[in-house]
Amino acid sequence: MQNKVVYIHSDELERLGNTGTHPAGRSNRVHSLINSLDLLDISGQESEHGSALQTGLQRVHVVAPRAATEADLLRYHSKGFVDFLLEPTQTAEKRMDTDSEGSDYDTESGGSDASTSQSCDSRPSKKRRIQQTLADRFGLKDDCPPFPELSDYTKLIAGSTLTAAETLLQEAFEAVINWEGGRHHALRDRCSGFCYVQDVVLGIDHLRRHGKKKDTSNETGSTSSSNRKPRVMYLDLDVHFGDAPAAAFKHPYRYSSPLTSAQERQPKPQVMTVSVHHHSPGFFPSTTEAGLTSPTSPTPCTISIPLRRAASAPTYARIWQTCIEPLRTAFEPDYVVLLLGMDALAGDKLVDGAANWSTKGEGGVAWCIERVMEWGCKLLVLGGGGYHRANTARGWAVVTSTLLGRDIPEDVPPHDYWAEYSPSFQMHVESSTYLVFRAIRYNYEAQSYKHCGYAAGAKDENTDTSLDAVEQAIDVLASRITEIMAT
Ligand SMILES: [Zn+2]
Repeated sequence: MQNKVVYIHSDELERLGNTGTHPAGRSNRVHSLINSLDLLDISGQESEHGSALQTGLQRVHVVAPRAATEADLLRYHSKGFVDFLLEPTQTAEKRMDTDSEGSDYDTESGGSDASTSQSCDSRPSKKRRIQQTLADRFGLKDDCPPFPELSDYTKLIAGSTLTAAETLLQEAFEAVINWEGGRHHALRDRCSGFCYVQDVVLGIDHLRRHGKKKDTSNETGSTSSSNRKPRVMYLDLDVHFGDAPAAAFKHPYRYSSPLTSAQERQPKPQVMTVSVHHHSPGFFPSTTEAGLTSPTSPTPCTISIPLRRAASAPTYARIWQTCIEPLRTAFEPDYVVLLLGMDALAGDKLVDGAANWSTKGEGGVAWCIERVMEWGCKLLVLGGGGYHRANTARGWAVVTSTLLGRDIPEDVPPHDYWAEYSPSFQMHVESSTYLVFRAIRYNYEAQSYKHCGYAAGAKDENTDTSLDAVEQAIDVLASRITEIMAT
């Protein structure tokens, strides 16, 4: 039987992922662990750990990514941004020439202050100044520094998720995995949060435009008409709010409750975005959109579900049953795009105790994947954040195994990076009983920061009261979505 799960990979994608992704070298760890678990269909070859492939086991079908074209990138990004990402030197040169002729060159690509104020500069230094101004303007600094192969990286990362979406449209496949995708913070004309290019939006957009409604003739309770447009549910489980996809697919039409007769005739939303993430003041990305979506929101298909610190599997299990499932039922998606940032796992090095998710148990990563599989939708699975390299590899290997219906071994198999799995050398990541927090923490009750020294502990700060408030809002939103999609 042909494998129904696809895995996007090429040596070039892995190499560029290693250099352009934070933390560096993560791509090697992920691919190497998945390969060592004998999950890849590399028929006729030997697996990395030297044993011959066993027969009768489900493995992922490996597909190499194509590079995105400029036209692909322009489906979401601005022309000035794309020009600069792909050809920074030539773009600065062109900017300098057009400015010296007094013409306006693409005003969205940056102000003219640098070029006009440096008229006495030599040509090379003027070009450097313009290039620096444009780099600042487009966010190529701080956590998104420029690097030599940025152009190739941009095209291949975007292309990898487009390849995944294109492959998913083939009849033979049920799920496609792209662990190099999931750059959910890259904005239309700005790099942000370690993300240079917005592959997620491009992938969803491809499914929305070229997909088809799933066959529900055998399902009971479906209210979908047979000729409606395909619907995509984007579910973002990274510890950070999925800001760019939420903004990109915010429906241009507004809805009140109850609907007016004019609203009933509006084009229906094709994409519902749902982000489950940690939120507290100052936590990246710092935006009010990352707070709980109001039940009276005029765009009820753009949903933010904020969690308090140290969310563990029981919190995810509860949110799943009371929020995710009702939203999915209300929207009736044909495709699910799942972003699985592993920075939500316990022990992540960047988020400082904000996360305490686990891979196993009810509400753990594998349990959530099994719930998504029960929906019967075609599934695009993307990576995302993950700043503990070994734990990220563990999490994504567990997901790959789960999608194949394969058992997950207790121990990490011997492979090149085996030593990095010390001290447990176990495959699963469990909620931590010992998290170290910074000296200043946010106190939800007092709504202010307080000094608490370095505190240890792993108490899930999501309480019945805090989750009740979330659930009440989502309950109303799910009812409103049902009404919108049914009319
Ligand atoms: Zn993240």
